[in-house]
Formats: sequence, structure tokens, C-alpha cells
Amino acid sequence: MQLDQPLENWDVIVVGAGPAGSALARRLQPQCKVLLLERQDRDASEIPRIGESLPGAAKVLLNRLGVLESFLNEGHAERRATISTWDCDDPVYFDSMRDPNGPGWHLDRQRFDAGLRAASVEAGATLLEGCGQFQVKRSDDRWQILLEDTGQIHQAKFLVDATGQSANLARQLGISRHVDDPMICLYAYLSCESNDDDHCTRISADHNGWWYSVRVPSGHRVLAFHLDSADPELKTLRRPDYLLAKARALPILAEALVGYMPASVYARPAASAKLDLDAMVATAPGFFAIGDALLSFDPIASQGLFHALASAESAARAILRCPEEMVSARVAFLDEMRAVHRRYRQYLNATYAGVVRFRDEPFWSIRRGMESRQYRIMSENIIHESNYNRKYCHYYM
Ligand SMILES: Cc1cc2nc3c(=O)[nH]c(=O)nc-3n(C[C@H](O)[C@H](O)[C@H](O)COP(=O)(O)OP(=O)(O)OC[C@H]3O[C@@H](n4cnc5c(N)ncnc54)[C@H](O)[C@@H]3O)c2cc1C
Repeated sequence: MQLDQPLENWDVIVVGAGPAGSALARRLQPQCKVLLLERQDRDASEIPRIGESLPGAAKVLLNRLGVLESFLNEGHAERRATISTWDCDDPVYFDSMRDPNGPGWHLDRQRFDAGLRAASVEAGATLLEGCGQFQVKRSDDRWQILLEDTGQIHQAKFLVDATGQSANLARQLGISRHVDDPMICLYAYLSCESNDDDHCTRISADHNGWWYSVRVPSGHRVLAFHLDSADPELKTLRRPDYLLAKARALPILAEALVGYMPASVYARPAASAKLDLDAMVATAPGFFAIGDALLSFDPIASQGLFHALASAESAARAILRCPEEMVSARVAFLDEMRAVHRRYRQYLNATYAGVVRFRDEPFWSIRRGMESRQYRIMSENIIHESNYNRKYCHYYM
């Protein structure tokens, strides 16, 4: 790293302006001078982001960020009932009104991400979009980031990885990320000429994976199938007509897919993953990871966005406790994340153990780690996101 450029000083540099990074940058205002680095330009055309279900418990966190009112005006749809055929062909209903935290939302994901990013800037964070590649190093008790495109060097006491599943910054620092299972999500945003007034979340187990489908505020219907990355059917299912035909073989999906046309199929890694938290402890103080960069969740849990906001809140509290409690604040943050991960794994194992009807199929047998009679009984309840959220969110609240 060449140090012939003037250094720009910050309190905190956050890399990645997704929900986690933007929430943290906003939450640290006005106490900290924050630089938020994002590799994508605002106008970059991107494939549609998947991940639209936000539990009602997130209201507390949005309120704490001071963005609840603007969020409620962004046009997100209230969540309705969830219908699942997880271990039986008879649909099981869960009405989101029964969730004590409120029903939650189906997001317009682009607006949600953009709203949080704008809120961080409005509060005083400096956002640098299209930041390009960078190098990172530690020097004199500070983190330094050299932006390769411009040669600018930024330094701060705190450095935060909020780069999502890539955990780009942590990997540059040599911290490994353990991916639990090689699952892929194939998804499409379907359009329909007739009027689709079904607002339920539909979830179903299948022989070699599981499905969900839901309408989003744009009027499209998301259709998503999760399967192993080594599944021989993966290539075929990337064909839009095949994906739709396979979904239509399941009655719970077929009835909601009437009139829909095949649409481009996108693929995205969807496995659980965890950064090596012990290696993080060993990394110099002042380094944090939040959101998917720290822990990413299987989409069946619908926890990723809540965790993005909640881990940003926890990291903000730790950073604001420094410098007096520099080491202990970070240790407490990591302990909290370990506990979140333990609890998540417990419910995830129970969820997958619940599918007994396909127990001999490879997709299900490799995920049946902690099978027990107790788990099987719990499973049809856990599949309904609200129950999952209730247990998980209580850890944070
Ligand atoms: C199939 C699927 C379905 C899902 N469904 C749900 C759901 O229903 N509900 C839910 O809550 N969650 C869901 N999720 C998870 C949710 O989308 C993520 O948990 C959430 O987006 C994590 O937010 P984040 O800010 O940590 O990361 P991201 O949203 O991934 O944001 C990371 C940001 O960092 C930027 N970035 C990356 N690398 C760099 C770099 N080197 N330099 C600068 N910037 C960089 C990216 O451009 C991006 O803007 C789902 C995920 C998948 C895969």
C-alpha cells in the first residue's frame, strides 16, 4: 500500500451498503464520523433481489433507527397467512395475525434497501458508491483502506464487514467462513395477465428440495425452489418452463400459479454460513462483521433481514461503548452472535427433521442431523415463520 496520498480520517468505515451496513451507518449518527463504502453504483442494473419477508418484530428496530414512519410509507405489503405442506399433503394454515409482534411485511426489496441507504446519508454518514476494489491493512492502531481506482486512503479505528454472503473484507483479513450445506435457490419473478388476489405465503417440501411462493408489492409473484448444488436436476430447472411445470405438480402451488407465464430463472447460494468467530476474536480489536457477512441463514428461517438490522444494532451498541470497554464490548457482541447461531441451528435442524415423508431422499437425509420424535412434532409449527421468529427475536429483544 502506497502512503503518498493524504489520509482521510473516520471513526468507523463500514464496507457494504445493504440493509446491515446502512442500518449501522445510520445508528452511529451523530456520535461517529462514518464512511459507508458500496461497490455498486446507484444506477447499476441488477438482477432482482430475493428476500422479501420481514417479521413484525423488526418494527422495534426500525423505530430505534428512526425510519419506521418512512418505511411504512414505502408501499410494502402486510403479510397474510402462511400455508404449508411440509410433511403432509393437507395444507396447514398459520394466520400472521396470531403473531404477537404483528404480521410483518412482504417488502419491495429494492425500495427497502434504497430507503435504508438514503436514511444513513440523511443522518450524516458519507456514502461512496462504486468504490471498486480495495486493499486493507492495520497500521498504528488504525485500519486503513486503499481504494485501488482512485488511490484514496481512508483510515478509522473501527472497520465493519457488511458485504453480505461474500464476507469480502473478512476474507481479505484471513478469517474463514464456514458454509454448512451447499444449497442453491432458483427463483423467478412471474407475471400474470389475470388478477391474482392470493396474498398468502405458500411453502412446500418436495422430493429434492423445498418451495415458496408469494406475491410482492410490484405485482409479481416470486417462485423459489431450494435444492442441492449437486442435484442433477439443477441445470434443467434453470429453464423457466421446467421450473414452472415442476412447481405446478404440487397442488398448493398449482392453485396460485394459474395464468402465470414462465420468466427468467436466477440462481443464488442459499446455505447457512458462519464466519469463524474465534478467528475474529484473534483479529485486532476494532473489526466487526454484521448481517450475512457474519451469519447467513437458510431462507426457510426468514431471518436474514431481521438479523441484518439486529446485528447492526448490537454492533452499534458495542462501538459506542468504546474506547473505555473496547475489548469487552466486542467479546459481548460475539457471544451474543454465538448464542443467536446456536438457537438458529436448533430450530433449523428441527425444521428439516420434520420432513419424514421424503426421509430417504438425499436432500432431506443429509439435513436430518438432529432427528428425534420431539423435533418431528414441532416441525409443522416451526415452518410457520412467525413461530420461528418469535423464538429467535426474543433472544435479541
Ligand atoms: C433465496 C433467499 C431468500 C431469502 N429470503 C429472505 C426472507 O424472506 N426474509 C429475510 O429476512 N431474509 C431473506 N433472505 C436473506 C436476506 O436477503 C439477507 O439476509 C440480507 O440481504 C442480508 O443483508 P446484508 O446487508 O447483510 O447483506 P446484502 O443485502 O447482501 O448487502 C451487502 C452489500 O454489500 C455490498 N458489497 C459486497 N461486496 C462488497 C465490496 N467488496 N465492497 C463494497 N461493497 C460490497 C453489496 O453490493 C451489497 O450492497 C433470503 C436470502 C436468499 C438467498
